[in-house]
Amino acid sequence: MYNVMVQKGLTVLWYLLSLAPDVMGTSGAIFFGGDCMIIKMCSRCRKTVVYPARYCETCLPVVEAEREAREQEQRRAANRAYNKRRDPKYVQFYKGRQWRMLSARYLQDHGYKCEGCGGLACEVHHMDPIQTESGWLRRFDVSNLKAVCTSCHNDEHDRFRKSKGIKRRY
Ligand SMILES: [Zn+2]
Ligand SMILES: [Zn+2]
Ligand SMILES: [Zn+2]
Repeated sequence: MYNVMVQKGLTVLWYLLSLAPDVMGTSGAIFFGGDCMIIKMCSRCRKTVVYPARYCETCLPVVEAEREAREQEQRRAANRAYNKRRDPKYVQFYKGRQWRMLSARYLQDHGYKCEGCGGLACEVHHMDPIQTESGWLRRFDVSNLKAVCTSCHNDEHDRFRKSKGIKRRY
């Protein structure tokens, strides 16, 4: 009974919305003899939902899963960055004179051209990461290096994250 009334109310509201979208905006109020319901559109699929819900039943789990995945990835990235910064072995390596000279010369020898996209390279990447045993042995081996722009470097380290502008020196 109640559901039927809600359905009727939605139909009326929908009609009003289509008549005067500028006046009604994307939400409206429906009155059922004392009960007041605020009706909004789902922010994802535009189906009607009852306030304070932002998403319909179909979209809510999807939106929550997406947000959870995003937050998890951010936490992981922060952890990775933190661990790398913290580990004195790698900090010392990147700060060391030998690496700074080698990476600068490598970029120069490659005309500052990104080996990924052909753009302007300003960073040098270890194809075999120095955090691995074999990569550590090849940390000064030019055949293990790659001149990259920041964007391509981000792709090398994490194919799923599309954030740009994060400065990396490894
Ligand atoms: Zn929806
Ligand atoms: Zn590039
Ligand atoms: Zn790298």
